Amino acid sequence: MGFLTEAVPPRHAALKVLPGITRIVASNPGVMTYHGTNTYLVERPDGLVVVDPGPEDAGHVADILAAAGTVPVSLILLTHTHADHSGAASALKAACGAKLAGFAKPVRDELAPDIPMGEGDKINGFTALHTPGHAADHLCFAFIGATGEQLLFSGDHVMSWSSSVVSPPDGDMADYYRSLQRLLQRQEDAFLPGHGPLLRNPRELTANMLAHRQKREATLVMALAQHDWSVAGLAAKLYAKQDLFLKAAAQRNVLAHLLKLKADGMVKEMPPETAEHPDNIAMAALAAHSETWRIRVARMQRDAKRRFSLVA
Ligand SMILES: [Zn+2]
Repeated sequence: MGFLTEAVPPRHAALKVLPGITRIVASNPGVMTYHGTNTYLVERPDGLVVVDPGPEDAGHVADILAAAGTVPVSLILLTHTHADHSGAASALKAACGAKLAGFAKPVRDELAPDIPMGEGDKINGFTALHTPGHAADHLCFAFIGATGEQLLFSGDHVMSWSSSVVSPPDGDMADYYRSLQRLLQRQEDAFLPGHGPLLRNPRELTANMLAHRQKREATLVMALAQHDWSVAGLAAKLYAKQDLFLKAAAQRNVLAHLLKLKADGMVKEMPPETAEHPDNIAMAALAAHSETWRIRVARMQRDAKRRFSLVA
């Protein structure tokens, strides 16, 4: 595919990315977050713009403020409201008094932005692109770098280290395809993703990501041509993941593909499976992680049993 790797970055430090742009990698490493969420600090004439404050973690907020030093934080930009990007938003706002700008209709109500943004809106040198797919409220931010490079803060829409989870109903596979195709028509020199290192020649990986999903969709259709499948059964057949979080992510991606095929009129939904799939019995353990995961696991258990067949 062409994904990038990097050594574990130094923690609690502002790491130089490009002239005038540093990142602090939050201490939330994991199978879904790589070494952690990237919080970017971008120098502007009136202070620093923070792109994605990161997870709810007082230490991370302290790191951002320490990196800013005497330079004021003038604005906080949010690519999307998933907790690993937005959790620190209210604490950072309270600490520095900057306004929060993000998509006008956030998926999580409590993250209503002070400055609502939509497609094409400009603020402090950044231009918002509405790029739903990974999340309905996902924005990428186009920006001209200090040396004239065309940059895109690509959030979790296009990451350098991995493909994204597309988890319905917030995530939508048809939107994701369209949002990838959109970036392919643009001319950015580099993407600064929500996780992983700077991505140069971003169109190459973006094209590979789209091709990979289209191939996956074709594989799904081939499997459905044999007989009908539950979401859990098809995910287990196609992905073969061991890690419980990755099993969960695989099921969400498969559901997203199936719902897209349903909307395309190629697939129909059947009465659900009655028995729990072994993967979902194992996944029940994830509910112990947090209240968020308890709700997520309950939804996954229901969705895993959903069954789909090819329209004759
Ligand atoms: Zn993320």
